[in-house]
Amino acid sequence: MKTKSIDQINRKIDDGEAKIYTAEEFKKLVKNDEAPAFEDVDVITTGTCGVMSGTAAILNFIVSAPGEFIRANEVYLNGVPAYAGPCPNEWLGSVDAILHGTAHSIHDGNYGGGFLLKELLEGKEIDVRIETAEGKTIENTITMKDITRGQIIGTRMAFKNYTAFTNPNKEAISSIFAAVPLEGNLSGLTFSGCGDLNPLQNDIPHNVIRQGKKVLINGAEGYILGDGTRSSPEKPNLMLSADLCKMDPYYLGGFKTGQGGEVYDTVAIPIPVLTEEIYNNLLVRDEDIDLPVADIKGRHLPLTNTNYREMWGEYDLRPQFNRLECENCESCRVEEVCPTNAFKNERLNPAYCFGCGMCAHYCKHDAFDMNTGDVDLEIDGRNVNVPIICRQSDRLRANKLSLKLKKMIENKEFKL
Ligand code: SF4
Ligand code: SF4
Repeated sequence: MKTKSIDQINRKIDDGEAKIYTAEEFKKLVKNDEAPAFEDVDVITTGTCGVMSGTAAILNFIVSAPGEFIRANEVYLNGVPAYAGPCPNEWLGSVDAILHGTAHSIHDGNYGGGFLLKELLEGKEIDVRIETAEGKTIENTITMKDITRGQIIGTRMAFKNYTAFTNPNKEAISSIFAAVPLEGNLSGLTFSGCGDLNPLQNDIPHNVIRQGKKVLINGAEGYILGDGTRSSPEKPNLMLSADLCKMDPYYLGGFKTGQGGEVYDTVAIPIPVLTEEIYNNLLVRDEDIDLPVADIKGRHLPLTNTNYREMWGEYDLRPQFNRLECENCESCRVEEVCPTNAFKNERLNPAYCFGCGMCAHYCKHDAFDMNTGDVDLEIDGRNVNVPIICRQSDRLRANKLSLKLKKMIENKEFKL
């Protein structure tokens, strides 16, 4: 059996001779029957971007001069509650806090930890309110500069297995799996997962994606701590960690769902092609990856199956906004449904857009041009064509971070 060692690959990287492909580049070659042979591939950089509810940030920041309060009992950042502690920081004027990406503002359930972390990384001012142990309220504003240390821990990231959802019931159903209540009568489908770009999908037996290995999380170098919560050999996911202060706000943010604000992250993981088994696993294509479709009410009973080729195909990754078609509606439905607030005041912010497709589906005046596809499903002996109306994963961001990782490896900024 042919093999390569990490040392051999690292030497090739040092000599500028390593052959590194992003998963997107490699899959294109695979699909065209032009995949380079085992000997001609050294590293594939895989990636995924999606709603990752297990995201939490551990923060330390200064809120007052020393001596103003003994310890914090409650902490709110832009109204989003964080857990005070674990360290009490007695009399120091600083606070340790754990912020959940899924925590919701006490003022607005659609705003939460994911949106807040993006704003923090963008350098925006954040309102802080502390309720102290001695009954005082301390209010201040902080920016990223006041964060002395911030670390993201994702308890359950980079899922391999997802389920797509549709709603065969009559009434609309609110869920974290759709940006707005999903209308009934099989009128739309929502899904997650980056298909054949996904790291764990390309390394099913965990040959190389293991505890202690380096990864990129939202642009910052981080590590695999181990398996994530609820991970199993059949449905693996990863627990990951990286320095929040080194992250790029483009790659993480908030995502509104039918149950309030959620958080999305982007992860890229290199797969060194050490053995022919590792190489063979990398040949997986979207059409090889099953995706069960379930009733959004109840979630667990699959109604039918599809695959990721049906989800991503050659469909558009981003919408085009045609201002001339916009009717300046009194109340813009797109502003209401856009899960990342990328569309405000009739302007589309490409840095916030997630490519979910909701705008194209909900603007009744066709001001948005985006083909997100549709899928033929066999449900209860009936063939039904269901439009794909909401993607909770973003292949464009996954590809961008995979490309960044490839360049970092080539430039010797990221050692395998
Ligand atoms: S719903 Fe469509 S047409 Fe109406 S204001 Fe929004 S983008 Fe324009
Ligand atoms: S695709 Fe449309 S609805 Fe989705 S994030 Fe982008 S602008 Fe918003």
